[in-house]
Amino acid sequence: MAEIVVLGAGVASLSAAWHAGKAGMQAAVFEAKGRFGGLCDHFYAGNFRFDCGAHFGFSNNEPYRRVLEMTDSISHRPRPFNFEAGKWLKHPVQNNLYPLPAEEKVEAIKSFIKRPERTENPDYGRWLKEQFGEVIAGRYPARYTVKYWTVPPENLSTEWVGNRLYRPSLDEVLYGAMTEKTPQTYYFREMFYPRRGGFRAFIEPLREGLDLRFNKEAKFIDPDRKYVLFGDGSKEYYEHLVFSVPLPELVGMLKDVPEKVKEAAASLWATRAALVSVGFNLEKVSDYPWFYIYDPEILPARVHAPYLKSPDNVPEGKSSLQFETYFSRHKPLNLSEEGLIEHVTEAVEKMKLASKGDILAVDYRELPYANVVFDHGMTRRRDCVLDFVKSKGIVPVGRFGEWDYLWTDQSFLSGKKVEALAGML
Ligand SMILES: Cc1cc2nc3c(=O)[nH]c(=O)nc-3n(C[C@H](O)[C@H](O)[C@H](O)COP(=O)(O)OP(=O)(O)OC[C@H]3O[C@@H](n4cnc5c(N)ncnc54)[C@H](O)[C@@H]3O)c2cc1C
Repeated sequence: MAEIVVLGAGVASLSAAWHAGKAGMQAAVFEAKGRFGGLCDHFYAGNFRFDCGAHFGFSNNEPYRRVLEMTDSISHRPRPFNFEAGKWLKHPVQNNLYPLPAEEKVEAIKSFIKRPERTENPDYGRWLKEQFGEVIAGRYPARYTVKYWTVPPENLSTEWVGNRLYRPSLDEVLYGAMTEKTPQTYYFREMFYPRRGGFRAFIEPLREGLDLRFNKEAKFIDPDRKYVLFGDGSKEYYEHLVFSVPLPELVGMLKDVPEKVKEAAASLWATRAALVSVGFNLEKVSDYPWFYIYDPEILPARVHAPYLKSPDNVPEGKSSLQFETYFSRHKPLNLSEEGLIEHVTEAVEKMKLASKGDILAVDYRELPYANVVFDHGMTRRRDCVLDFVKSKGIVPVGRFGEWDYLWTDQSFLSGKKVEALAGML
C-alpha cells in the first residue's frame, strides 16, 4: 500500500509526488504508458525530435521558474507570426495590420472605432467584436476559433481568455497599420527551452527518487475500500488518491456515481489534435518559432519549428516543423492519416515554406486530449463533477484532472496542492 497513489505521470502528477516526498509523505505514481511526461513528452521521426505540440517554458511563478532553472536552457524572445492568404503578419494581428492593402486596413480600423459597446458576460463571439470590431474579429480570431476550438466563438464562454488575447488601444492599431516597427506585446517577454533533450528535460529533475510504475492503466476505483484496480489485474490500496487522468474518464472508473454527476461528466469535452511532424533537408525552413494559420482551406491551426527551439532537436544542418490540426465530436477530421499528411505537404508548398522533395521524415500521431472546451455552462457542470470526486476524498490535479486550460506551470502548481494532505495522514 502507498500512502498516496498518483494516477498519471505528466508534469502535474510528477509535481504531486515530488511535493509529497518533500513534505515527508510516501507516494507512488502509476502511469498507463511506458514513459513519463504526458503532454510534455516527445517522440522521433527519423533523427528529428518533436514535442507533443509547441511547448515553451514560461512562467511568472517562482516555484516553477526554479524547476526550469534546474535545466540548462535557451532563452527565446517570443516572435509568433500569423499566416493568412499568402501574407505574413506579426502577432497579434490587431496590432500589426501593416502588410494588408490600404483599403482593407481602412475597413478594419473603421470597424475597430465603431466596435460595439461592452456588455456583461458576452459570449466569446460577441466579446471578440467588442474588443476588435466586426472586421478584425471576423477575419482573424473568429476563423481561428473554428480551427482551434472546433466550434464557432458564439458557442464559447470567455472564462478561459485571461491575458491570452491582446486588447489594443486605437493608437496601437493605427501605428500597427502604418509601420512594421511595433513593440512586442506577447504575454511573456521571455520563454525557455532545454538546450538538450526536448521539452521533457525540464520536468526530468522532478522524477528523481520517485516511485514510478509504468504500464499501469487505472481501470476501476473503489473509494470506500480505497483501492485502484489496474489493467494488468494488479490492485493498489491507498490512503489518498491523486489523479491527473481526464476527469470524465476518472468518473467512468468510480463505482456508485449519481446519475446527475454521470450526465455532467459526459457533457465535458476536449479537442483532439492530429500532429503532422516533418523533418526537412534544409538548414532553415521557416524564420518563425511558431505561427497561426487563418485560411480555412489549410487545416492546421498552428505550426511550430522545433529546430528553432533548440538545434538539438534536429540533425546538424536540418530543420523541422510540426503542424497541429484540431478536431472533435463537433468537427470531425474526415481525413485518413495519409490524407492529412498529403494535405500538410501540399500546404508546405502553398505557403512557400519548402517543396515536397525537401522532406526527409514525417510522423503522424494524435493527442486524444488537447484543450478542454469552455462551452456555455461548462464550469458549472465541471464543478458538479469535481465536488463529487472530492467528496470521495480524491484529489484532482493538472489540465485534465482539474479540467481547465492550464499551461505547464499551472499544471505543476496544481500538483503542489498535495502538500495539504501532509497533516491528514
Ligand atoms: C498542443 C499543445 C501545446 C502546448 N504548449 C504549451 C507550452 O508551450 N507551454 C506550456 O507551458 N504548456 C503548453 N501546453 C500545456 C501543457 O502541455 C499541459 O499544461 C501539461 O503538460 C499538462 O500536464 P498534466 O500532467 O496535467 O497532464 P498530461 O500531460 O496529460 O498527463 C496525464 C497523464 O496521465 C496518463 N493517464 C491517462 N489515463 C490514465 C490511466 N487510466 N491510468 C494511468 N495513467 C493514465 C497519461 O498517459 C499522461 O501521462 C500545451 C498543450 C498542448 C495540447
